[in-house]
Formats: sequence, structure tokens, C-alpha cells
Amino acid sequence: ETVVNRIAAGEVIQRPANAVKEMIENCLDAGSTTITVSLKSGGLKMLQISDNGHGIRREDMEIVCERFTTSKLKEFDDLKTIATFGFRGEALASISHVAHLSITSRTKDSKCGYKASYLDGRIKGSPRPTAGNTGTQITVEDLFYNVPTRRKAFKSPSEEHQKIADVMTRYALHNSGKSFTLRKTDGDSGPSGGVSVRTQLGSSFVTNIGTLFGSKVAKEVIEVKHYDTQLQLKTFGYISNANCSMKKFVFLLFINNRLVDCSVLKKSLDSVYQSYLPKGSHPFVYLSLEMPTNNLDVNVHPTKHEVHFLHEDEVVTSVQKQVEASLLSCDS
Ligand code: ADP
Ligand code: MG
Repeated sequence: ETVVNRIAAGEVIQRPANAVKEMIENCLDAGSTTITVSLKSGGLKMLQISDNGHGIRREDMEIVCERFTTSKLKEFDDLKTIATFGFRGEALASISHVAHLSITSRTKDSKCGYKASYLDGRIKGSPRPTAGNTGTQITVEDLFYNVPTRRKAFKSPSEEHQKIADVMTRYALHNSGKSFTLRKTDGDSGPSGGVSVRTQLGSSFVTNIGTLFGSKVAKEVIEVKHYDTQLQLKTFGYISNANCSMKKFVFLLFINNRLVDCSVLKKSLDSVYQSYLPKGSHPFVYLSLEMPTNNLDVNVHPTKHEVHFLHEDEVVTSVQKQVEASLLSCDS
């Protein structure tokens, strides 16, 4: 049974960046405004995520790593919603099957925090009282220590660090106003003290675009804001104007606050820009779409984030129209 679980877990958590994405979403679900990730060896040796969210109650510490038994699932009787949003209740469970996992957490009503370690979906012993502020700190060590073939496949810690930085950057922009920090805590940390992503509490989207993608693009971005009543589709975002010259197409897409991919939409927006940008330059596009869940069809496989919509043509056309209109309005 352990081996089967380990294989299943390896499908959910394929690399450190998957673990970080799942855990960032947990922090946000817990209402955190400050999220800090520390890495050793690109997260392969150690990855730690700390937040100031509502914390985990002592009694829930016992079960947080059991599959599908987590507290949040009880709030979702609609299975479709669960599948769509990836609320599968198996991220921490999966991590505990392929790494050494420990959690320290404190709720605001508790006199102290609690700390516990987990193995193969189960808590080891009971939660031990500990000091600490309200919030949660999760430490994942020696990822894939028990899956040697997977472990060996990771040739480059810096590549894993980069992938995590990419995920953090996207969540940091989408959650502008909250503070995100990514820090390397081993090796030569350089003049930045090992910090590779950092946004401040209260920062605006444009400020964060500057911080995360460069002041040049921040000067060029235009806000997109629209509500399509027929499709019940809310479009919000920031896109570069016709002067932008990114080295490659930077496309950040959130749908109902989940980071996703949508190659159909990406292609169609690329083609809009083709007619406005000089050859060889590429746009920056950050979009946050909100629509009723039943119009969404997300591939339920947790590592594939490609989405499809019901009425896909209409949705893509609507977004495309908004982007083009915004581009034109700033041109004149
Ligand atoms: P899911 O998010 O799908 O419920 P996870 O395995 O990602 O499953 O998390 C399990 C549970 O652990 C969550 O439902 C939540 O109750 C709790 N949890 C995980 N991370 C945090 C956190 N940072 N702050 C508060 N609670 C958390
Ligand atoms: Mg989760």
C-alpha cells in the first residue's frame, strides 16, 4: 500500500515547484497576507513556507495529511467544484509520502502553537506545544528521498529554484497587496541576501509589475477591466502597449484565482499583438478572469493546468476583443 501511495503521490508532486504552488494556495486559502518561501538546493533538500494565515487547530493537526479528510472538503459538497479548483485534499498527503514533512501552526485563539511531523499520510506521535505567532510554517525536507529514480532525475537545483521563482512571481503579481518573498538559504547568497522574489504589503499591481518584470514594462502597461454580461465573464488585468519589447511572450493567466494555462487564449492574444508590435518583440499579458464554475472545465490532473471553457470560442473572442480595445485606446 505504501508503494502504491508513493507512486500516486509522485504524480501529484512531480517537482518542488508543484509542492510550492499547492502550499501557496493553502496559505492564501488561510487568509495570509505575508508568505515567505525558503529553499535549499532549489527545494530538493529543503523547502519551507511560512504564512500569517489563520493557522491549523490542534485537533486538525492530526488529520491534515490524510487524503480527502481535510476540513475544507466538508465545505464543498459539489464534486465538480472540487475537481475544478483542485481542492482535492491530497497535496499535503502526497508530500508526506515522498518527503519528510513537518508543520508548526498556531491559531489566534490558541495559547500556544503546535508542531508535528508526518510520514506516509500519518502524524508521528502527537502535536507538541511550541512558541510562535499566529500562522503556519511547513517544512519539506529531502523530497523524493524514497524515490531514488525520481531524485536522480533532478540535475540542476538552480533550474528548480527558477521554476519556483516563476510560480512565486505569478502568485505575487496576482495577489498584489500581499507580501511574497522567495529566499535561498544555502550557498552563495550574493548581494541580494539570497532573495529572488519580493513584493511588499500594500503594493499596487503596477508597482509589482515593475518589481517583478522590470520598470520598462511597468511604464507601458495598460489596465484592462470589463464585464461581459452575456457570458458572466469578468476580465481584469494589465497588458503591455504596442511599444513593448519583451524577449518572449510573458503570459500570466488566472481563472477564478487559480494559475492556469490556456493555449487557445494565449495563441489568440499573440495574434492580436502581431499586428501592433514590431517583428521580434513580444507582449506582456497578465489576465485574471472570473466566471461561473460550471463554465469551466479544468483538466483534473493536478500537474496539468490547461483549461477549457464551455463556449470556448465566445470566451476567447470576448477576451481578445477587450485586449485589442485596450491596446487601441492607449495608442490614440
Ligand atoms: P486541500 O487544500 O485540498 O484541503 P491540502 O492537502 O492542500 O488539501 O491541505 C490540507 C488541509 O490542511 C487544508 O484543507 C487546510 O485545512 C490545512 N492547511 C494546509 N496548509 C495550511 C496553511 N498554510 N494554513 C492553514 N491551514 C492549512
Ligand atoms: Mg490545498
